[in-house]
Amino acid sequence: MSRALITSQVDRSATLEPAGEIGPDSLAVECSARQLADLEMLATGAYAPVMTFMGQDDWRSCVESMRLADGTLWPIPITLQLSASAVPASTSEIRLMSHGRHIATLAVSERFTPDLHREAEMVYATSSREHPGVAALYEAGDLVVSGRLSFHALPRSFAGPEYLTPFETRLAVEQRGWRTVVGFQTRNPVHRAHEYLHKVALELFDGLLLHPLVGETKSDDISAEVRMRVYKALLDNYYPQERVLLAVYPAAMRYAGPREALLHALSRKNYGCTHFIVGRDHAGVGDFYGTYAAQELFDKIDPDELGIDIIRFEHSFYCTRCEHVASKRTCPHDSSQHLALSGTKVRSLLVEGETLPAEFSRPEVAAILAEEYR
Ligand code: ADP
Repeated sequence: MSRALITSQVDRSATLEPAGEIGPDSLAVECSARQLADLEMLATGAYAPVMTFMGQDDWRSCVESMRLADGTLWPIPITLQLSASAVPASTSEIRLMSHGRHIATLAVSERFTPDLHREAEMVYATSSREHPGVAALYEAGDLVVSGRLSFHALPRSFAGPEYLTPFETRLAVEQRGWRTVVGFQTRNPVHRAHEYLHKVALELFDGLLLHPLVGETKSDDISAEVRMRVYKALLDNYYPQERVLLAVYPAAMRYAGPREALLHALSRKNYGCTHFIVGRDHAGVGDFYGTYAAQELFDKIDPDELGIDIIRFEHSFYCTRCEHVASKRTCPHDSSQHLALSGTKVRSLLVEGETLPAEFSRPEVAAILAEEYR
């Protein structure tokens, strides 16, 4: 709770440059949803100090030691992967397109073949294709290209007032006069355990940045649009409006567990957060990571180097005896009284056509989700 907000007036969003003439060695590439999400994070400064797709030195250092080549803490490679067969050796620039619109140009200064198996083992702690992040890594292409990136249009994944760049978010925080801001990452339909985490945090800090991820997720996750609708319904009915800022986080989900938790925290620092919530199995999928593996990774990192304080939460559940959400730290009853709350459980109830009980979700949230699944 000691960390105070360090506001910075520096806007690290990319300055737009006009696109130059198209030379003979220029290649147009239609970006995937994940590539667009990375572009958006780079363009807005959300991944600062990483401002372009990584070259080999940064890639290797990041994979092997969770640091950029200059020693800066950084857990996940941000690379532009393409299929080698689609990129002639003479290619000097890559025009990155979104639905035919020229978004950015990469002046190619480096190309290399990454060891994707090694990247999977080190970053995702598995090389199994059953892992959605690993499957996406293998499918994205066997060649990595890097160089200077110039933007001609800002990629924007979400239309609406909840779209705030890191700079705009820091300004909004400043306007509200918050000295401490706790960030909350989520990709799941909001449930009562999430709300519990938010409310505990609101007891301790000036403001809460609710930051649902709206980039690509695996196909059985709810859509970003619905994720935002349920959050608005919850805020309108159950939260003190002036203490919460709801904004979108444009990244794609990698499901890399601990390393992704670290990426989430570092990036939220760019958005002005002084604190960041990490609960159970943060950014995990299936049984690939231990319940508290993400928290354990943070235990090994010097808090001063990290620059954002991690607020750890134990697995939280609804206790039918206590009649509220609790964790083992606050509830004495045995597990037969406990209702586990998770996005997976919420999704499976909805798929079966069941109404979400009040212990799981607020009725306003349950109604939107039921309509969506119907
Ligand atoms: P993800 O971590 O993949 O974004 P969620 O949206 O479910 O998935 O989680 C958002 C945050 O809430 C994470 O920090 C996660 O650890 C935490 N969390 C989710 N459910 C619980 C729970 N029942 N108990 C404690 N923490 C939880």
